[in-house]
Amino acid sequence: MAQKLSETERVIPDARSDAVSGRVVFEPWRALWVLGMLLGALVGLLFFASWSALFVFLALSSFTLCLGHSVGMHRLLIHRSFESPLWLEHILVYLGVLVGMAGPFGMMRAHDMRDWHQRQAECPAHPSHDAPFFKDAFWQLCCRYQLTHAPEFRLEPQVRRDGFYRFLEATWMAQQLPLAVILFFSGGWSWLLWGVCLRVAVSLIGHWAVGHLAHRRGHQSWHIRGLPVQGYNLPKIAFITFGESLHGNHHAFPHSANLAIEAGQVDPGYVVIKSFACLGLAQNIKTPKSAPFREGLERVSPVLAGERPPFFTSP
Ligand SMILES: [Zn+2]
Ligand SMILES: [Zn+2]
Repeated sequence: MAQKLSETERVIPDARSDAVSGRVVFEPWRALWVLGMLLGALVGLLFFASWSALFVFLALSSFTLCLGHSVGMHRLLIHRSFESPLWLEHILVYLGVLVGMAGPFGMMRAHDMRDWHQRQAECPAHPSHDAPFFKDAFWQLCCRYQLTHAPEFRLEPQVRRDGFYRFLEATWMAQQLPLAVILFFSGGWSWLLWGVCLRVAVSLIGHWAVGHLAHRRGHQSWHIRGLPVQGYNLPKIAFITFGESLHGNHHAFPHSANLAIEAGQVDPGYVVIKSFACLGLAQNIKTPKSAPFREGLERVSPVLAGERPPFFTSP
């Protein structure tokens, strides 16, 4: 293919790579995983509802999604938007694995391939979330996009060789078991079904839904010229998504640890990172100003009419 494809840090296309030619492939084991969690969630909701189970669900969901998925997996392991001691990184990534989405390598690959797709001049409907609501749900939860000539995906050596990450990658589904045993002996079926099945089901569906909506419409203060896929901010759900719904900001400044870069936006994940910094556990925290502007990045609209946003001058 003659067209020159852009690279990201870990995705390296060669002369044969093609960002478009491919097909959506059904993955039965993923469908079974989601279905199993949904069934457990349904049984929990119908027959084992209790206030204590609700508390367990809310506490574990917040803990794993915020510290694990958003701070540990996304901002630290994938984007290296701050630095922390390896023991803390391992704990955060372990919490991210408990979300039940994938192992650390699988998460990095899925994230980076999507990111790479969205940086090309043409992007198929699967990685751009362009399918209608329910079709996109089926695609994202039960399928993957298989390119005919995929680019090379190259993990950095210190992550690839990390024994703990290799262990998590090989056992990520089984990592629910120790937690399930603890929950069962602490609060019976009610805590187990709400603390594992309902939590994983809500996390998977919530993650897909935010991804779907944040690539279609919403608040946008930055636009990346020449790309067919744009990210949008959904500030109304920023608090319950721990900042991840501010996806327009993330498209504009992927390296930034802070996703709430406009006036009035909230990012609980960044509050966690700043708290780590206060304890001496996070350094070199990156902000939008830490790296050069992305090529083609353009300011679309100030948040408040007539005001310039606080952090920026035009590129
Ligand atoms: Zn995106
Ligand atoms: Zn990202």
